[in-house]
Amino acid sequence: MSFLFQNYNRASIEFVKAEGNYLMDSEGRAYLDFSSGIGVTNLGFHPQVQAALLRQAEQIWHSPNLYLSSLQEKVAEELVAGYDYLAFFCNSGAEANEAAIKLARKASGKQGIISFQQSFHGRTFGAMAATGQEKIKIGFGDGLSHFSYAIYNDLASVKALVNSDTAAVMLELVQGESGVLPADEQFVQDLADFCRQNKILLVVDEVQTGMGRTGKLYSFEHYDIVPDIVTLAKGLANGVPVGAMLGKKELASAFNYGSHGSTFGGNRLAMAAALETLRQLKTPDFMEEVQEKSRLLVGELQTALQGNPRVLAIRGLGLMIGIETSSNLSVLVEKAREKGLIVLTAGTNVIRLLPPLTLSEEEIQRGVGTLKEVFEEVD
Ligand SMILES: *Cc1c(COP(=O)(O)O)cnc(C)c1O
Repeated sequence: MSFLFQNYNRASIEFVKAEGNYLMDSEGRAYLDFSSGIGVTNLGFHPQVQAALLRQAEQIWHSPNLYLSSLQEKVAEELVAGYDYLAFFCNSGAEANEAAIKLARKASGKQGIISFQQSFHGRTFGAMAATGQEKIKIGFGDGLSHFSYAIYNDLASVKALVNSDTAAVMLELVQGESGVLPADEQFVQDLADFCRQNKILLVVDEVQTGMGRTGKLYSFEHYDIVPDIVTLAKGLANGVPVGAMLGKKELASAFNYGSHGSTFGGNRLAMAAALETLRQLKTPDFMEEVQEKSRLLVGELQTALQGNPRVLAIRGLGLMIGIETSSNLSVLVEKAREKGLIVLTAGTNVIRLLPPLTLSEEEIQRGVGTLKEVFEEVD
């Protein structure tokens, strides 16, 4: 008997301990984590993040946004380094996107938000309105108006939706939940040019792709663009609930005193964990190593799965990797788990890998070996 709403499909094991890139269940079995808890514990269960949390818990773990927070300042300074951004802290990806939608509307004085079919931006009303998937909205009544959905990687479809009320275009640079689909480079650059020329704000949802996941701190750095607004969450504090919105300084007057807020936003435990996470991500050569691990992991996967008729494609960016398959996803996930490997799914036909950025060569070999066995055993 459960006292919880049954809005998740939970596997019947519980992780009770974690160390590095391994999870331990209540029976004492160890699992190599190729999911990072859905792209959250990007550094694995890192001893220095743990130490930062414990140190902060000994000092003070909450202080309202009525008082100064040098920790928020430090995290913001690290996040915006090299850019003309200011930061706002909240508690989740959906909240970060809510803030982005509100800022875009208030700063532009317009209401229209164009996002993309098959996108995912979260479960609150604003974030859900931006999400281009009907199944997420069923049963929740009238959604927000002035949202429309272009075709991913198709600039003409964006132009066709633009009108005098268009405030912003919002997108993921790798669509995560719907199947690990990276945006085309030319499309993104043309879209950024088009938005700039037409004074439409460009919002990039980096909730999943940010914080080094793709081999750069932000995935937009691969595309040689600078969005007007960026949203972050998942990996930002390596497992402590947090969200952030970064926006260009020129938008600052729209988010003036009293316009928006969050009681928990920028919580001390979250900020202590985020600061240490950023320190780790910014150690010299860290991102180059992530890119190297990505090349190794993708190369090994290609070799191991080559010729397997159930594997249709391997794609991704950095350590955000999708294996498109004709086989049953839940069978694949369960088989991998029985063999001690945790993987995710995306869309209807993709096994999604979001391994910790700290994964070792030995862990790459082990994970790939397991996936090879799994794909050989399924129909
Ligand atoms: C996970 C995700 C969200 C939602 O984040 P929550 O913290 O669950 O609200 C939004 N956008 C993208 C791209 C995501 O992957």
